[in-house]
Amino acid sequence: MNKYDVIIVGSGFAGSTLARKFAEDQKKVLIYEKRSHIAGNMYEEVLDNGVRVHKYGPHIFHTNNKKVFDFLKQYGEWYFYEHRVVGKINNILVPIPFNFRSLELLYNQEESQKIKDKLKEIYPDQKKVSILDLINNSDETIKKFGEFVYKNVFENYTAKQWNIPISEIDKSVINRVPVILGYDDRYFQDQYQYMPKQGYTKLFERLLDHENIEIQLSTNALDDLSIQEDQIYWKGEKFSGIVIYTGQIDELFDYKFGVLPYRSLDLVFENYDMNYYQSSSVVNYPNEEKFTRITEFKYFSNQLIPKATTILKEYPKKYQIQEDCIPYYAIIDDENREKYNQYDELVQKIPNLYMCGRLAEYKYYNMDTVIERALELYEKEFQ
Ligand code: UDP
Repeated sequence: MNKYDVIIVGSGFAGSTLARKFAEDQKKVLIYEKRSHIAGNMYEEVLDNGVRVHKYGPHIFHTNNKKVFDFLKQYGEWYFYEHRVVGKINNILVPIPFNFRSLELLYNQEESQKIKDKLKEIYPDQKKVSILDLINNSDETIKKFGEFVYKNVFENYTAKQWNIPISEIDKSVINRVPVILGYDDRYFQDQYQYMPKQGYTKLFERLLDHENIEIQLSTNALDDLSIQEDQIYWKGEKFSGIVIYTGQIDELFDYKFGVLPYRSLDLVFENYDMNYYQSSSVVNYPNEEKFTRITEFKYFSNQLIPKATTILKEYPKKYQIQEDCIPYYAIIDDENREKYNQYDELVQKIPNLYMCGRLAEYKYYNMDTVIERALELYEKEFQ
C-alpha cells in the first residue's frame, strides 16, 4: 500500500489549492517542490532593507469569481487594493489602460474632445473596447486614434515582451489590456481587487498548513516519478493514487514531441535610499527602454519604511532549458497548441494523471483563473 493517496508536483496556486482540497478530504498528500521554497512564482521575500518583494515579478490579485475569493479569504486577511498603472508615452506619464485622461494628456483639447465625442457616439453603451476593434473601425477618426494607441502603447511593448511582431500575437494576449471609454484609471475592472495583508508567502504557508500535507522542498519530482506504458511509477513501483502535475508538460514526457516555447524574464532588483522611486506602483515603458516596466513594491506591501525602497525592472528574453531560466509565459499560437495537444493525448491515456496550471496546460492563466481551474478540477473529478 502506498503511503500517499495523492502526489502533487509543484506548490504554486494550482498545486497548493488542490493539496488543500485533498487534505481536507482526509487524503494523504505529498507535494514535490523543486525550489527551496513553496508558493511557486507567487513567492515573496523580505530583503535586507526591509522591503517585501515579489521575487518572480509583480502579482496583483483580481477576480470576478466570488468562489475563488471566498476560498482564498480562509487563509489570511486581505486589503482592498485597486491597481493603477501609468505608461511613459512621449515622456508623459499617462494612465494604462489608455483612457480619456491619457487622451487629454497626449492630444490638444480640440482633438481630444473630437475623439472622445466620436468614441461615445460609436460605442454608446461600452465601458471599454479592444484596441483591435479601434484600428479596424471604418470611421477615420477612430481608426487614426486606434493606430496612435497601437503604435505608442502596444506595438513596441509587445515586440519587446514576445519578440514577435504584434500582428503575430494571439488576440487574447493583446485583449488583456483594453482601451477605456471613460476616466476609470484602474488596471483591472474586476469586482474583487485585494492583496494579502501579510503577503503571498504567508498565505501559502497557511494554505498548506494541514496535517495531511507533506512537502518535499528542493526535490525534483521526476527523480522519483516516471511513466512507462501509460502507468505511473513512483520510486520504482506502480503508483495507483492520484498524480497532479503542475510543471512543464513537455518536460514530463522528456520533450518527445519537441520543446514548448516560453518567454522568460531577467528580473533586475534595485535598492534606493529614498522613500519612493516613482509615483505609482507600476510604470510601463512601451517604447524607449529595454525593460517593459518598473514595479515599486512598497506600494503593494503598504510598508512604512523610511528612506528605503526596492524596484524591479523586467527585461524579457527567450526561455531556454537551463537551471536559472524560468518559463513565465506560454507563447500561444496554432503550432504550439498543436504540439501541446500531442502531449495532452499522452496524458489522457493515463487514468490517474491530471494536469493543472500555466505550465502543465500551456495557458496564460491569471491567479484567479488557475485557482478556479483547480477548484473545478477537484469538484469534477474527485468530490
Ligand atoms: N501590453 C502592451 N502595452 C502595455 C501593457 C500591455 O502592449 O503597456 C500588451 C503586451 O502585449 C502584453 C499584454 O498586453 O504582453 C498583456 O499585458 P499584461 O499587463 O496583462 O501582462 P502581464 O502582467 O501578465 O505580464
